[in-house]
Amino acid sequence: MKCKLHPGRKAVASFFSNHYCQECADQIKRAQSTVDRHVEPKDCFIIYEDSKNGWKSFTSMSSENTGCAHWVAHQLNIKGGYSNVCAAGYKIKVPDVIAGARKIDPEQEEVRYHDIWVSPDIKHCGLVIAIREEGGKKIYRIKHCSSGSGGVVEHNHTSLWKGQGSYHRF
Ligand SMILES: [Zn+2]
Ligand SMILES: [Zn+2]
Repeated sequence: MKCKLHPGRKAVASFFSNHYCQECADQIKRAQSTVDRHVEPKDCFIIYEDSKNGWKSFTSMSSENTGCAHWVAHQLNIKGGYSNVCAAGYKIKVPDVIAGARKIDPEQEEVRYHDIWVSPDIKHCGLVIAIREEGGKKIYRIKHCSSGSGGVVEHNHTSLWKGQGSYHRF
């Protein structure tokens, strides 16, 4: 068995169904150690950048590579394409995660379980996990992977961006 990226080298480790050499295995470990603490799952939030840079965590590459989008993509099985996806194939940017989803107008249509909530600046997202009514108003419980909170947490939509944001459904 040869390394998927370095065909001249013997494969010593496997990662997401592919085989890699010792140098790749070492770089993968190092890249995984630089994934931000809030990201879930962590092991796949890395990519082989190029032969010069080797394996990198998405955290270290761009602020548009977001743990929130990655977490939602894993929950709803949103995969596709070869670039801007984690090592397990899931999307990692908010606009990519909602591309192809239908925008819901809560005035016209009920928001439902597992609709995707997106912040007004389209930089943060989460999933609707519960809906209740309070004083004639709907309160949506949003589960999201948050760098500010350091992990996957839940908040009422009213306490996120002052209740603003949009809802999207596949
Ligand atoms: Zn290799
Ligand atoms: Zn992933």
